[in-house]
Amino acid sequence: MNESIHVVCTHCHAMNRVPELRVGDAPSCGRCQQPLFQGQPVALDSAHFDKHLKGDLPLVVDFWAPWCGPCKSMAPQFAAAAQQLEPQIRLAKVDTEAEQALGARFGIRSIPTMVLFRGGQELARKSGALATRDIVAWARSVIK
Ligand code: ZN
Repeated sequence: MNESIHVVCTHCHAMNRVPELRVGDAPSCGRCQQPLFQGQPVALDSAHFDKHLKGDLPLVVDFWAPWCGPCKSMAPQFAAAAQQLEPQIRLAKVDTEAEQALGARFGIRSIPTMVLFRGGQELARKSGALATRDIVAWARSVIK
């Protein structure tokens, strides 16, 4: 068995091939040598969004904005969820005020909204601020 998966680096956005069995062994990026998993969400802009969408890891994106109170209160909950969900699931954040085209592309009408992608396809979405345990439970219920 030598299956490998594509993991996108959160620092330099290079695509890395990681043997599936080594994903949990704190692999680092072949280009920039930074850890591929740091247990925290990656902030994505339109320049890098599609790169991460092409990775093999399921991607949970928190669409938020700086003026949104519930978004701010959810931020530490979402960050804590990343610690629990990595390395099986990648968590990312998109600032819909700075990246309005991304919000429009995915039809984000209220924030915060989380969208779960896998293989470039949207599998599920959920609106409203959630606690860490609910974010984790939701993501795991979609990615069985
Ligand atoms: Zn890198």
